[in-house]
Amino acid sequence: MTESTKDAASSPSGDPWLLTPGPLTTSLSVKQAMLHDYGSRDATFIDLNARILERLVAIVHGEGSYVSVPLQGSGTFVVEAMIGNFVPADGKLLILVNGAYGQRIAKICDYYKREYLVQESAEDVPVNIVELDATLDNDTSITHVAVVHCETTSGILNPLHEVAEVVARHRRSLLIDSMSAFGALPLDAREIEFDAVVASSNKCLEGAPGMGFCVARESALAQTEGNSPSLVLDLYDQWRALQKNRQWRFTPPTHVLLAFDQALTEYEAEGGIVGRGGRYRENCDLLIAGMRAMGFKTLLPDELQAPIIITFHMPTNPEFDFNAFYDGLKDQGYVIYPGKLTVADSFRMGCIGRLGSEQIQGALDAVAGLLTRFGIDRIEA
Ligand SMILES: *Cc1c(COP(=O)(O)O)cnc(C)c1O
Repeated sequence: MTESTKDAASSPSGDPWLLTPGPLTTSLSVKQAMLHDYGSRDATFIDLNARILERLVAIVHGEGSYVSVPLQGSGTFVVEAMIGNFVPADGKLLILVNGAYGQRIAKICDYYKREYLVQESAEDVPVNIVELDATLDNDTSITHVAVVHCETTSGILNPLHEVAEVVARHRRSLLIDSMSAFGALPLDAREIEFDAVVASSNKCLEGAPGMGFCVARESALAQTEGNSPSLVLDLYDQWRALQKNRQWRFTPPTHVLLAFDQALTEYEAEGGIVGRGGRYRENCDLLIAGMRAMGFKTLLPDELQAPIIITFHMPTNPEFDFNAFYDGLKDQGYVIYPGKLTVADSFRMGCIGRLGSEQIQGALDAVAGLLTRFGIDRIEA
């Protein structure tokens, strides 16, 4: 515990609460699950791996036709793996972009020299379904479409069902980055068609950061042999190795997996998507109502806001200094996040991770206290 957070409303581990897009606050029991050293060939560890992979498939109700493949690294590693594996050298990817994570997929294509087309909307506007339909009509060389479920840049919810419906109607393959939504927002393989979705251990599933995973339609994954330009990110090869001897190809992040197994147990105990998504929704509603009461304005109208992370316009009050605001909140045990928008000066507050109404209310009280200290009656934004 640092000097500055000693009297703050810090978590059981003494760390500040993370109201960020990740890494996120984890439960004490998830952290404690990591107090073991397992060999990668240990039978207990191998069983734990198998259990984790099965549960990830179950979260999207993909039993029977989908498989999950884990990979070391942060979320971007597995986004890159998905693109490299599923889009073949002679394929063409249409990327629906309305933020930095969609842009990142285009950058991956640049590195991999994959042909792509970007369909861009403003950061505060959902991806455009009509335009998608027309583009797929006009360009028959497009083989795959990539979409970001919740664009964490702004916190906007993209219309996944509509995107999937259009892509399926045109018989193209859909690839989803659901990093910041997986486990909290509905994504059901019985309702929508997709070939692959990627997410990571640390966002809405509340494990430790350090691994990502791809839940893929088995028949589509089976056709990706030899596509990956990268050895370490070859999902096909990782999948086959796991099938052969139930082991990862290279040193697995054993502690991260121990934490993830515990995190998934806690996820199921909370009631899966309904429970976890419900808590985030309550956090989000409380946070937005409390901030609005002080005069802060959200970037997004409520109907576009995913209960994941909220973008607020930067106040224009001359007494408001963002660095002092950030540091003041941190000193009281709450970490927020700068904005990443190009359309407006902003900051973000997340409502995912091991946070509940007590922490959100604590953060709101800390914000109110700081405004008083700055001599601000009401925020102008
Ligand atoms: C967090 C996130 C990622 C991955 O980011 P990393 O920093 O590599 O973990 C990718 N896409 C979205 C939408 C995200 O929110």
